[in-house]
This record gives sequence, C-alpha cells and structure tokens, in this order.
Amino acid sequence: MNNTSTEQLFKFDQNVEVIHTLIESEEMYVVLKVCSTHARCPGCKCVSSQRHSRYARKADDLPVSDRSVHLTILLHKWFCVNANCKNKIFTERLNWLNPSGRKTVRLEKLIHYVGFSNNCLVAEKVCREMHISISHDAILYRIKKEDSAPSSYCPFRRY
Ligand SMILES: [Zn+2]
Repeated sequence: MNNTSTEQLFKFDQNVEVIHTLIESEEMYVVLKVCSTHARCPGCKCVSSQRHSRYARKADDLPVSDRSVHLTILLHKWFCVNANCKNKIFTERLNWLNPSGRKTVRLEKLIHYVGFSNNCLVAEKVCREMHISISHDAILYRIKKEDSAPSSYCPFRRY
C-alpha cells in the first residue's frame, strides 16, 4: 500500500496527514498528524491559533483487508484566547473522533449498527469476525446509552 492510497483511507479531514504505516499479518498501525492552524475552545467557542503543546491519542478504526486498524493521532492542545473563559488550555476536537472516544466515529457507527441488529453475544462474534475488538458488555453499554427514541433501523422496536 503506497502512501497515496493510505492517505485516502485515513483522510478524515483536510488537516490529517499519514506519517507512518506498519502492516502486520493481523494488524495495521497508522500514525496520523493533525496539522490544524487553529481550534475552537469547547467552553467559550473562541477560535485560537496559539498552540500549547502536542499530544498523542490512540483509537481503533474500521478494519482494512482482514486487519484490525490502530491509530495513533498526534494533535495539539491550545491556549484559550478568552481571558474570561474557565479553560486556559483545551484539547483539539475532531469531528471524526469523540473527545474521550477510543474508536473513530465511523467504527462506532458500525458497532452501533451491528449491536442493534443482533443480540450482544452475536454482535460480539460478528465484530470479532470483522477484526473489531469489543466485548458484548461494551456493545450492551452502547445500546443502553442510546436515546430511547425509536431508531429507523432497529428490528426489535415497534413503531
Ligand atoms: Zn475558552
């Protein structure tokens, strides 16, 4: 897999750059760098261009070619420019990875779909076959956390 095709697989947004890829027999490790020039404070919504530091997050992504995908994402912490804001420093928010998430939004969507389509024990087996590491308890937690409003694709709910 050359860098251009890897870039396309992990182009979550225009600021993401693939800087390293390691492919093993059952796993794929990808290091991504987020090169944002500014970020919005989650508290006061002010836009800051004053970088504080860089840090790394780990998250799993959709499997590729029968391999689990593990991302290391390098991104920034930022100074809030609003003197009245309670956040002096904040972490960069990504629309493809929830603030404390350990799985990308697109992987969460797939787990959500599989979890709502099966019982949790079957969903765990389906996920394992797709090289997605998740327990039936973690799937059940996600289903319980879901809003109680009817979902359009849940086969077990009446409308
Ligand atoms: Zn702020």
